[in-house]
Amino acid sequence: MGDFDLVIRRGTVVDGSGVQPREADVAIVGGCIAEVGRVNGSGREEIDAKGLLVTPGFVDIHTHYDGQVTWENTLAPSSVHGVTTVLMGNCGVGFAPTLATEREALIDLMSGVEDIPEATLTAGIPFDWETFPEFLDSLERRHADVNFATQVPHGPVRLYVMGKRGAAREPATADDMARMAKIVRDGVAAGALGFTTHRSGAQRTKKGEIPPHETASEGELRTIVMALKDLGRGVIQGADDWADTHEEFSTELDMWSRLVRASGRPYSFALTQRTAQPELWRWLLEHVTNANREGIVIRGQVYPRPPGMLLGLDLSHHPFSACPTYKSDLAALPLERRVEEMRKPEVKRRLLAEDPDRSDRSSARETTWSRKIENMYELGDPPDYSPSRELKLTERAERMGLSPLELAYDLLVKDEGQTVLFFPINNFVAGTLDDALVMLKHPHTVLGIGDGGAHVGYICDASYPTHILTYWTRDRQGERLPLETAVKMLSNDTAKAVGLEDRGLIKRGYRADLNIIDYGKLTLHAPSAIFDLPAGGRRLRQPADGYAATIVNGVITYRDGKSTLTYPGRLIRGPQPSPN
Ligand SMILES: [Zn+2]
Repeated sequence: MGDFDLVIRRGTVVDGSGVQPREADVAIVGGCIAEVGRVNGSGREEIDAKGLLVTPGFVDIHTHYDGQVTWENTLAPSSVHGVTTVLMGNCGVGFAPTLATEREALIDLMSGVEDIPEATLTAGIPFDWETFPEFLDSLERRHADVNFATQVPHGPVRLYVMGKRGAAREPATADDMARMAKIVRDGVAAGALGFTTHRSGAQRTKKGEIPPHETASEGELRTIVMALKDLGRGVIQGADDWADTHEEFSTELDMWSRLVRASGRPYSFALTQRTAQPELWRWLLEHVTNANREGIVIRGQVYPRPPGMLLGLDLSHHPFSACPTYKSDLAALPLERRVEEMRKPEVKRRLLAEDPDRSDRSSARETTWSRKIENMYELGDPPDYSPSRELKLTERAERMGLSPLELAYDLLVKDEGQTVLFFPINNFVAGTLDDALVMLKHPHTVLGIGDGGAHVGYICDASYPTHILTYWTRDRQGERLPLETAVKMLSNDTAKAVGLEDRGLIKRGYRADLNIIDYGKLTLHAPSAIFDLPAGGRRLRQPADGYAATIVNGVITYRDGKSTLTYPGRLIRGPQPSPN
């Protein structure tokens, strides 16, 4: 018998506080950290971590595992990148509360906004709940490879209260607002960490409609957030497509400042460098800084590389996926047969000459993006997320004397159709991540928007923790982030931002959520498609090497990247106080 459940010996502890790494032992009892330093007692299990990093488990506060967590125990990609706690229910979309008659509408919403196949959601989600507290009770019965917490999403609340009027984005009556506020309040009182929404209008449901909550009035939002003020807890998360005039940016941000000032609840929103308005983020951060100076807590959720669309023959989109010939003759074929067909000169000639069909409103934006060859790169393995200019397909095509579209075609059909093309959507206007670095280092930003569990057929951003550690602290040419800073950003900062003060630090009394990392060997591999979702749905997977072990609630969940088939992760109800 040992004195502890687990002792990790002689690791290089990067404890999440931002202080310099130091060699120490870490002892664990009952899911919590019992001792850090020189541990004299013995453990029932011991790990020799000499030469390896020991970090807190990472906390990802922006995910969409709301469906996935109800049908499987593995919350990948996050769980294979050192993440031990995820917060879901972001961006105003989710699956509770809901009436039986509205499930289809919610699935349509999630599937359109977040690109999760409809058949998968229909087959996978048990819907053994109606109210939000009942949803939490259902989640309470789930076990996963990471801890999970959720937020009350605006879209389902609006549909639940207003039915068809909500879907049609009609203004809410005073009675509607009061009912919505009560639902959000009850959800947060029962254990949701906050309330989420999304603003303006570029997103679409699968049917091509603007989601129900996008144009909600300030009065509606105010009634809802004031219910959280009464409760004294709950964070607010949102994203905004920011309209096109300067005046409207300030209108929108001023509105959030008023709502945060009135309610006292902190707000965080997705902040990236937008290609259409490359300087907007600076302006937004200036306003955020001014707001914080007045005690109004607003943070930008930032992303450490270009949020990127991935294109390939086995993914949701590629430059030819909306071409009529592709849709009618090729799309349904197995990959191998499709590649064979596409290698025929006459098929190639036809596809190169065709314009994409843009009539499908639900994917109009993705179809437009899929033809922007001038923004595309070949991703490669290991993937390069800040490729240099001469690697652009347009520049390569010019050197080869091909049209860019033809080069894209040739790349897609080589390697048995496995090539992945990368389209950096944001954060890469000047072809470097220098501006992203300014955002990362800003005092009023926090890591987020990795969207784990969503966009499963064309975005795989949830692998960002591994990218931060490899690229930003180790491999980048030019300014890098200190390792201890990056670890703090991934664990302590994100945990605190959403009220989880019991994790994110390697300190006595904190949750024993940890990573043991072979830093020299840490490698992020290229994403690829697998078809293992309910009803055969497709999703992207992205493996990493170098995680020697990941520990959740004191239990080892992964060893050398392989699952131990234990699922100690549980629902977290409500904010958690610091143990000290
Ligand atoms: Zn999101």
